[in-house]
Amino acid sequence: MSGVQLKSVRKTYPNGAEAIRGVDMDIKSGEMIVFVGPSGCGKSTLLRMVAGLESISGGDISIGDRVINDVSPSERDVAMVFQNYALYPHMSVRGNMSYGLKNRKMDKAEIEKRVNEAASMLKIDQFLDRQPNQLSGGQRQRVAMGRAIVRNPQVFLFDEPLSNLDAKLRVQMRIEIKRLQRRMNVTSIYVTHDQTEAMTLADRLAVINEGLVEQMGAPMELYSNPKTLFVASFIGAPQINLIPVTFDGKTLNNGTLKLAGFKDLPEQTELVLGVRPDVMTQSAKGQLDMRVDLVEQHGGENLVYGALQGATNDEGDELEICLKGNKALLPDLDAALRLSFDPATAFVFRKDTGERLV
Ligand code: ADP
Repeated sequence: MSGVQLKSVRKTYPNGAEAIRGVDMDIKSGEMIVFVGPSGCGKSTLLRMVAGLESISGGDISIGDRVINDVSPSERDVAMVFQNYALYPHMSVRGNMSYGLKNRKMDKAEIEKRVNEAASMLKIDQFLDRQPNQLSGGQRQRVAMGRAIVRNPQVFLFDEPLSNLDAKLRVQMRIEIKRLQRRMNVTSIYVTHDQTEAMTLADRLAVINEGLVEQMGAPMELYSNPKTLFVASFIGAPQINLIPVTFDGKTLNNGTLKLAGFKDLPEQTELVLGVRPDVMTQSAKGQLDMRVDLVEQHGGENLVYGALQGATNDEGDELEICLKGNKALLPDLDAALRLSFDPATAFVFRKDTGERLV
């Protein structure tokens, strides 16, 4: 098994678009890395460069000890699973799974063994003689994974493989992919724009912003210790509450809102306070007042949305905030809630650079 190294990797498309602007990464053998970020940030470009489907404009990509910049995709010993499954429609499931191995003139008995093993692992044994159009979306995606598994590659590459599935199936398949990856222990790179998928699948995730890795680390490390405003707002659902503030040496201020418990912050600088919905609790001694305008009941937990009183957003409008609690948290509409949070659980960022200060 091999790891994957990226050194100063760049990609400029022929039209001049700088999709990847210098990425360094050391992926350990057996690790599952998720590239996550908004649409257009460069995730697919980076994955496709590892796969060999895009040329590399600068830097080096290695698998194990071998620099693979100029190695053809079929010689890289990687297997990719695509969003649209990319199955051959006129071939049976067995045909699809064995096609790549036959092309490599692998022994027939070995092909059959590998296909049967993968099919049983993916629970698609009973469909081996069907055509793709006789399968559901989830079953097709299993065949696509089966085709990757039989190749026994050094690295699995997943490009938003669950995007075409409905919500329930996505969750099921996500759990199955994680189990399979653990069991097979194959180095994997997985691209998604879905932060829940990223959090749950990754050993480490790389948050990508405009062609650069903004932060890389274990999911909970990024959640608890984001280095930038971008990472804090991308990771976590519901999203972190963001309140524009300034510091006067004693308190953080916005309108009539004054928050104590912060120090060592620059004055006369636009700052953003970040408070996660789950660190606030109702308390008469609280620092924040919220007027409730919506309660979402999710079963085990409730989300309460409302306007923060006394403060405004950058446009001068009401600031919507969210509070997360258990199912007993059921305030009436228009109720006034007083909320408290420990300043040590909140973050303060510079608005201009997004750098975290506290
Ligand atoms: P993501 O996968 O995060 O949505 P992409 O890697 O697809 O992002 O794209 C990154 C950037 O590169 C975007 O600005 C996109 O418009 C640009 N881009 C992607 N593919 C091409 C291409 N073939 N030619 C020119 N620009 C491209």
